[in-house]
Amino acid sequence: MSRVSAAERRGAVLVGGGLAAIAAARSLRANGWDRPITLVAAERGAPYDRPPLSKQYLTGHVRADEIELARSGELAELEVRLLAGRRAIALDPARYTVTLDDRTRLNYETLLIATGAAARRLADPGFAGAHYLRTLHDADSLARALRRGGRLTVIGAGFIGLEVAASARSLGLEVSVLESAPGPLTRVLGADAGAAIAGLHRARGVELRCGVRELELAVDRGRIRARWRTQDGPDETMADTVVAGIGAEPRVGWLSGSGIEVDDGVVCDAGGRTSSAGVYAAGDVSRWANALTGSTHRVEQWQAALEQGSVAGANMAADLEVAGASVRQWASVPYFWSDQYEHKVQFCGSTGPISLSAATVRGVVTCYAPAADAPLSGVLALDSPAALGAGRRLVAQRASWDEARAWLGEW
Ligand code: FAD
Repeated sequence: MSRVSAAERRGAVLVGGGLAAIAAARSLRANGWDRPITLVAAERGAPYDRPPLSKQYLTGHVRADEIELARSGELAELEVRLLAGRRAIALDPARYTVTLDDRTRLNYETLLIATGAAARRLADPGFAGAHYLRTLHDADSLARALRRGGRLTVIGAGFIGLEVAASARSLGLEVSVLESAPGPLTRVLGADAGAAIAGLHRARGVELRCGVRELELAVDRGRIRARWRTQDGPDETMADTVVAGIGAEPRVGWLSGSGIEVDDGVVCDAGGRTSSAGVYAAGDVSRWANALTGSTHRVEQWQAALEQGSVAGANMAADLEVAGASVRQWASVPYFWSDQYEHKVQFCGSTGPISLSAATVRGVVTCYAPAADAPLSGVLALDSPAALGAGRRLVAQRASWDEARAWLGEW
């Protein structure tokens, strides 16, 4: 039986306490929503921002209270009822109810799924000692381990793995990075950009091993032995701490049986609407259509979570004909950044098999396209924020590959 009062049966329920949900709450209010908003957040404490977890928070340069997502008093001003430490476990779109882990059932008029993603786990069932990095709790645990010093093995040379490697080096640890691909980020950004980023890490003394396969981890006299093979034969290293950054998976398990369409994330139109009326999704958990590019992607990027939360919040109000609310679409060149040492890696759009790189005064810029007769699809800038800004405009304008090449020649 439902334990919610009649007053609570009206309103919006936002599930997940991250950036997308907070953006949706702000947008609902900005779009004239004057009914209750309930935020169901699995983690205890105030909602916080994730990017610093692998950077300044891990190195101890910012405290937890400095990475809160909402400024002090903001949730109260927005009249958001925060249910922190409570997890949604089931959704019934036909009855407009969501069930929480204490069996409380919340009714809603409109609901947002913003449950983010979870760090993918290593497949090796015989080894349970690896750190992962998704939450504040994970970051605290990893920071404690790093403070003990020694050697760190990072599994996976993706953005999070490389940021942790950079943070650990700046804390004075010896660092090995093990990557199955031929180079760091080569699957994401191609060989040129991967080589430039590899160079940053090697220059700082990181031992970067690529083409790693048959990786095995085992505890050996209080330390952790990693053994693997590459085309050059077997190799191994000993470490005091192991962290795995091998990707993330959308948190959709609680939606099983709801009938909501899921296909590598909750499938959404360009306004965040899911396959069920009254249910929206945003952020890392969702796969949105992008009205600018016509393509559908699940992106695990801060900027997309902010934009999608904001668009979904507007549409949650507008679709219920709230006065003053406007229907919006997500039409954006996706963007992300990564900070490694004093370097800034920025990327917008999407990569493609055609790429061309140029060294600029400060760094490297790479353009991508799906084919030489197709428009520019993405731009990577290493230490060139101005190039990234200009490149983002060119991607939005669907500049031709010839135009992109001419532009690249100017940097
Ligand atoms: P999340 O931030 O994951 O929030 C989802 C929330 O929902 C979580 O708090 C989770 O506990 C909660 N939840 C899950 N299941 C339930 C449930 N059943 N009921 C209730 N609550 C639930 N992006 C960049 O562009 N640049 C960067 O430099 C960058 N650095 C990053 C560093 C780290 C360590 C990480 C983890 C991510 C980084 N990102 C970066 C990605 C960016 O932080 C995410 O894209 C963004 O946080 C997504 O926001 P979200 O609200 O969709 O999901």
